[in-house]
Amino acid sequence: MRLTKEGLLRINFRELPDNRTRLKCNFRCSYCLQIAGNVREYSFGEEQFAMTKCVWDMLSRVEDAIMVRINFNGEIFADGWATRCAFYIDRIPNVRICEFITNNSIDPKTYLDEIVPSKTTFNCSFHPEFVSIERFIENTLTLKGAGCDVFVNVCAIPQLVNKLPDMKETFDKHGIPFKLQGFLTLGGSYMGKKYPEQYTLAERRILKKTFYTKDEYSYFVRLRRTKGLDCYAGVDTINVFLDGSVKRCFTQDIGSVEGLVSGKVKLGEEPYPCHEKNCPCYAHFIGLKKFRKKYILSSRFVDNYEKTAGENGLKG
Ligand code: SF4
Ligand code: SF4
Repeated sequence: MRLTKEGLLRINFRELPDNRTRLKCNFRCSYCLQIAGNVREYSFGEEQFAMTKCVWDMLSRVEDAIMVRINFNGEIFADGWATRCAFYIDRIPNVRICEFITNNSIDPKTYLDEIVPSKTTFNCSFHPEFVSIERFIENTLTLKGAGCDVFVNVCAIPQLVNKLPDMKETFDKHGIPFKLQGFLTLGGSYMGKKYPEQYTLAERRILKKTFYTKDEYSYFVRLRRTKGLDCYAGVDTINVFLDGSVKRCFTQDIGSVEGLVSGKVKLGEEPYPCHEKNCPCYAHFIGLKKFRKKYILSSRFVDNYEKTAGENGLKG
């Protein structure tokens, strides 16, 4: 059974559809959306591992190659259950790429023996409230040295904005790709302000220069609308949850993994209009058809992309 036309499916694998109920993290960042949502900290165990296994044993039978991003709440390497699930998925033969999101605070030497470096990639979030840049870079270089592809992302919280140009230069110096992540307070507030609406003009000038492309700035600082734009989410990119449910992206139910692998549920054949006013994730927006033409979709990370040759990304 093949689920996509091109034979390549991109998956964000998440906990439960109510994605904000649980957190297991060794940090307590002041801007953490999960903490702001009053999640509870508790462990998952055998029952939830069995759920992961059930979902991925079904997906291991499809003909498509799979690129998966393990997208659990909190820190994967500080959560025994999450680590065990990720290692299980990493070893599945039709999983071409297994991308781990991590705060990269835990020494990679403690887990490198468990992964397949040629297909495991690391999307490392730098949270300077809890880890020094020196320690973070040391861990990132250990991952690179082991043969894993790595990139670093930093959330554009207001107190960091002035420091971003120097920070980018430091990562550049070490040959570590750096991406800025839009900061959205999503109906809430941070230190009494709403973001991105309340960035100052000076902050906006820095952000405009630091985002990887002008398009990212435009969608995540100026909040350009995505509603109605054709998107590949639900075509070759889906969100799969621990209970087997499948959504287009953060929202819009598609069905279940069981339905997909049995052929009762079909993914879209062509990109179709976005249903959200604004895409809530700086990475998901690469599903938009217009960006698939403009940039090169990464073959090493689920939602990442590269600028095309001759495209400086600043014309959008
Ligand atoms: S590392 Fe991520 S999940 Fe953990 S507290 Fe910070 S923002 Fe939240
Ligand atoms: S643009 Fe974002 S929100 Fe809209 S359908 Fe695509 S992934 Fe979903």
